[in-house]
Amino acid sequence: MARSLILFPTSVCDSRCLHCFYYEAVDAPKNRTRLLPADTRKLAVAMGRIKDLSLSGGEPILRHDLEALLEPILRIGRPRSITLPTGGLHAARVERAARFILRMLPETHLTISLSFDGPPEAHDRIRGVPGAYPKQRRRTICSPTSRSPVFSISSSSRRCAR
Ligand code: SF4
Repeated sequence: MARSLILFPTSVCDSRCLHCFYYEAVDAPKNRTRLLPADTRKLAVAMGRIKDLSLSGGEPILRHDLEALLEPILRIGRPRSITLPTGGLHAARVERAARFILRMLPETHLTISLSFDGPPEAHDRIRGVPGAYPKQRRRTICSPTSRSPVFSISSSSRRCAR
């Protein structure tokens, strides 16, 4: 069994974090090649069972067809743990994806990974999005999906030199 799969569904992102590891490239038109459900089907067949699935980006949740991309990986790979990082600006989409994942794999441990970069003003400045902090706190953490016993929300804080 392959240990882990790290999937970048998109490079599109609506944040502009100062700590972004590819700040200059994120959301650049030349990087907007599209991963298709047919691609993830091939990938899933080639990999077979996997232990962990980590999504990355860009902001993965900005893919409107995220569920279609994930379906073959969840069905064939059946990962035991899944991590979905998000800037927390699209709570309804996060909830939709979380419900989809847990419907397909009720025993999988799903972690929604949120970053808090400091107090509200610092967080918004570092993220490059005015109002990001209250939006993230108010909406995402209150998701009803959080009642699931296999669901957890992790948050991390970072120091940024810029
Ligand atoms: S949310 Fe992630 S991908 Fe988007 S700018 Fe911030 S660090 Fe980069």
